[in-house]
Amino acid sequence: MGPAAGPVPRSRKPVSAVTVRVPAKVNVQLTVGGRRPDGFHDLANVFLAVGLYDHVTAAPAEGLRLTAEGRDVAGVPLDGTNLAARAAVALAKRYGIEPDVHLHIAKAIPVAGGMAGGSADAAGALVACDALWGIGAPREELLALCAELGSDVPFSLVGGAALGLGRGERLTPLEVGGEFHWVFALAEGGLSTPEVYRECDRLRRAGGGSDLAADLPVPVADPALVAALAAGDAVALGAALSNDLQAAAVGLRPGLAATLAAGRAGGALAGIVSGSGPTVAFLCASASAASALAAALPTRAHPASSPAPGATPL
Ligand code: ATP
Repeated sequence: MGPAAGPVPRSRKPVSAVTVRVPAKVNVQLTVGGRRPDGFHDLANVFLAVGLYDHVTAAPAEGLRLTAEGRDVAGVPLDGTNLAARAAVALAKRYGIEPDVHLHIAKAIPVAGGMAGGSADAAGALVACDALWGIGAPREELLALCAELGSDVPFSLVGGAALGLGRGERLTPLEVGGEFHWVFALAEGGLSTPEVYRECDRLRRAGGGSDLAADLPVPVADPALVAALAAGDAVALGAALSNDLQAAAVGLRPGLAATLAAGRAGGALAGIVSGSGPTVAFLCASASAASALAAALPTRAHPASSPAPGATPL
């Protein structure tokens, strides 16, 4: 990214408080290539935003203050490591202003659940602070800041469905031709994303293969999956779901195998570990089938549908 942008135009009137709604995501395809020399993996990541939302509110304050509410809030850091705080600081720095804001996060997205909750909060904080501080940053500038904050953050800004290449941050929007109905089975406690990638690499080496980018093909989108999304065909999408991190997540959290089996027995079209887990996503044939499955599962479960819009000021 280039030098800091110019001063904030004075003509824009600061607003009193701004709330931004941000969606969770499920990866309907997560193909993991080899580990690159920089430690990241090349991915073909098909993101689908789902209607399970965090709300990020930015209000005037002196200095940066952070609060959070919600069931899983104990796992959310309330210091400078919070992705929403990092987003506010990055935006302020870019425009040469002080990060004076009270950020409040109302969390509904599971914490460390493989649904990009922290990334969603970062995108929400960027959009909320941009409005609070009267910046009016161009969309491309916000997307560039998102990509610096994390691989999943740009998608949280745009929502809908998209193919993410590279670390997942190089996005191409994808067409979605209908509504898809999901149930998300939540696990107690999270899984560390870096740990799941390390386990994936370990399983590849233990299977006699290589885990290095130089030895493995560069991942690409699955045409059958892209066509199923475009057609709004839930049966075809269910057949095409894939996640190269699933074996690693189940290896680290063996109880997920029983959750996957319970969803299939309960009538889901298909089930998949969401991203790095431990949330499990079940695709259902209808909204009523999703409600019935959510009620029948032994774990805490939320029905939600997709696609959902990206970060939206309310
Ligand atoms: P992904 O799907 O992008 O891999 P995730 O959904 O598995 O991410 P997050 O909920 O984003 O995981 O949280 C991962 C870790 O990030 C948490 O354990 C927490 O320590 C830290 N974190 C930082 N900011 C936040 C935030 N705003 N909300 C939740 N966790 C946060």
